[in-house]
Amino acid sequence: RDILVCGGTGCQSANSEEIISNLNKEIEKAGLKDNVTVSLTGCFGFCEKGPIVKIDPDNVFYVKVTPSDAETIVKEHLCEGRVVDSLLYEEPTLKQKVTRQDEMSFYKKQHRIALRNCGLINPEIIEEAFAEKGYIALGKVLTEMSQDDVIQLITDSGLRGRGGGGFPTGRKWYFTKINEASQKYIVCNADEGDPGAFMDRSILEGDPHSVIEAMAIAGYATGASVGYVYIRAEYPLAINRLQTAINQAREWGLLGENILGTGFNFDMDLKYGAGAFVCGEETALINSIEGFRGEPRNKPPFPAQKGLWQVPTCVNNVETLANIPAIINNGSEWFNSIGTETSKGTKVFALAGKINNVGLVEVPMGTTLREIIFEIGGGIKDNKQFKAVQTGGPSGGCIPASLLDTPIDYESLNKIGSMMGSGGMIVLDESDCMVNIAKFYLEFTLDESCGKCTPCRIGNTRLYEILEKMTEGKATEEDLCLIEELCTTVKDTSLCGLGQTSPNPILSNLNFFKEEFEAHVKDKT
Ligand code: SF4
Repeated sequence: RDILVCGGTGCQSANSEEIISNLNKEIEKAGLKDNVTVSLTGCFGFCEKGPIVKIDPDNVFYVKVTPSDAETIVKEHLCEGRVVDSLLYEEPTLKQKVTRQDEMSFYKKQHRIALRNCGLINPEIIEEAFAEKGYIALGKVLTEMSQDDVIQLITDSGLRGRGGGGFPTGRKWYFTKINEASQKYIVCNADEGDPGAFMDRSILEGDPHSVIEAMAIAGYATGASVGYVYIRAEYPLAINRLQTAINQAREWGLLGENILGTGFNFDMDLKYGAGAFVCGEETALINSIEGFRGEPRNKPPFPAQKGLWQVPTCVNNVETLANIPAIINNGSEWFNSIGTETSKGTKVFALAGKINNVGLVEVPMGTTLREIIFEIGGGIKDNKQFKAVQTGGPSGGCIPASLLDTPIDYESLNKIGSMMGSGGMIVLDESDCMVNIAKFYLEFTLDESCGKCTPCRIGNTRLYEILEKMTEGKATEEDLCLIEELCTTVKDTSLCGLGQTSPNPILSNLNFFKEEFEAHVKDKT
C-alpha cells in the first residue's frame, strides 16, 4: 500500500509532516514497514478539508486528518481492513460519506492537466516524476523534432499565457526564436501576487519537474541556453522543492551541457523576488533580475526582441509551462479539443472568500462560474446569499449573480468588465459592501504601484481618497461623477498593465452595484 499525505504549504501548516512521522511510527509498531510506504505529495487542491491523506490502491480519501489520527488509520484501515468512517468526507449533495476522491463533487468537473501530478507524486523524488512521464517530452523534442516543429505544435494547441495576458504561447516562442542572438533567455514568471492566489506556488511545490522540463523545451525551441525562475522569496517551500528538483535534473543529465547526448545545452537558476506586485509585469521582472528597481519598461521593444540584458527573452508563467510537457506528449489536437473556440485547455483557479470549498481547482475553459462556485465550490458559506465573484485580482472586476452562467474564457470575462487574470477567484456574499471591496483592491494597487508614472501614482491616490470619503460618509454627488472620469484617465494614460487595469474593480462595481455607491453618497453612512 502507498499512503499519500499532502505536503503543500496549507497542509504543512496544519501539521502534515507530523502526520507522516506518526504514520511511520505506527506502521513500524504494527510490523507493516515492508508493505506500506508513506509519501509526501503536492497539494490535492481540497484545502478546505486538509490535511488530506489518501490510501492507494484502496482509493480511500481521508480529510481533516490530525497527527493523532495516525494510530487509528494504521490500526483500523491497515491492520483490520476497515475504512475509518470518522475521517471520510461527507458529500453535502448526497448527505452521505464518500470514500473515493472521484465521488466528490469538488473533483467531478475538474480536469487536471497543469495540476496532473500534484497530489500524485512526491515532488522531491525525480524517479516519481519519471514514473508519470517526466522528461519524456524533453527527450522527444530533442531527438525527434526541429525547433519549428515544437513551435508549430504549441501554436496549434492554442495554449495562451496563463499569467493573465492570454498571449498565444507559440507566437511568443516564435518571436523569441526569430530574433537572432548568441545568447537568449527563458524566464519563468513565478512572481504570483494576486490576493488569494496560490496556483503557481502549488504547481512548484507539487510538480517542479514539469516546469523545469518545459523551460528546457522552451529553450530548445527558441534557441536559449539559460533559464531563470523569478520566484517570490515568500515561497520557501516552493523554492526548496524547485532547487532540489534542479539539482536532481542536473545529476540525471537533464540540465546542463549536452543534454541526453544531443548536444543541446540548457541550465537554469533561481532569482528571488522581494514581493513587489509590479514585478509580475514582465519588463519590471526583467529589471529586477538585472538588479535594477522593479519598474516596467516601455514596450516596444518587447522582451522577445530585447529582454534580459537586452537580448531576446521569453517570459512564461508557471501554469503555462506546466501544460507544455502534457501537450508535447499528447499532441496539439488533444489539447485543442478541450475548452472553447478561442480559449483552449484548462485553467487553474484559487477559490477563496465566502465559499464552502476553499481550494485549488482546474477546470476546462468554458466551465461556467455557477458550476465552479456552486458545484465544485459547494456554494456560499453559512447559507448566505451569493453577491459577486471577483476574478482577475486587482486588475479584474466583480461579477454579479445575474452573470453566473458566463463561461470562463478570456473573451467572455473581458466582455463583462473583468478578466481571467492569473486565476484568483474570491467569492463575496450578501454581507460584503462593494464600495469597501473596491477600496480594498485600490489600496492594494496603491501600495504596489512603483510610482514611475503620474496617472498611476497620483491618480490612484486621488481615487482612493474619494473611496475613503465615501466609506466615511463624507462624499458628495460630485465625487461620484469625478470617480468615473478619473478611472478612465488612469486607465488610458498609465504606463504599464498595473496602472491601466487598476480602476477595473471600481468600474465593474460601479457598473453592477452603482446603487451601493449612491447609497454611500446620499445616506452619508
Ligand atoms: Fe509604475 Fe503604476 Fe506607472 Fe506601472 S502604471 S509604471 S506600476 S506607476
